Amino acid sequence: MTEQLVLDMPPRPPRLSDEELADIVAASREAIEFLGWTQHEFKDINGVCSIGAVLYSQDIDEEQCGNDYRVQMVAVALARALDILPHDPEECSRYGCSCVVNTITTWNDTQTTITSVLDAFAKAEKILRAGFDPDKGYRDE
Ligand SMILES: [Zn+2]
Repeated sequence: MTEQLVLDMPPRPPRLSDEELADIVAASREAIEFLGWTQHEFKDINGVCSIGAVLYSQDIDEEQCGNDYRVQMVAVALARALDILPHDPEECSRYGCSCVVNTITTWNDTQTTITSVLDAFAKAEKILRAGFDPDKGYRDE
């Protein structure tokens, strides 16, 4: 799967199905597994942070981080899985906002092990593929 870490995708409309978003979450998780995990930087000698994982798995320019809909949508998915969503994403934009990207950056930088980070990506992917949080047993519409 490592050859798919950098996806050479054509420009997409800023709408992703849950399955498409789940694939990006999975690729980002694989980027952390493959490159390692870090804090306070998108990428350094130790690896990538949670947001850097999205940037590097999707070949997104670091400058576009806060604005890119894929970064925002992954951040929303992670924040939902972690129950730390700062507010309804639609309050700032249709897909997400830099607030939730900052929430995930702060969360990343307060984790103590790579395991909790990988677990959050896995949980977010599971929720996206199921359409609801299986741990909560109801549909989050
Ligand atoms: Zn916001």
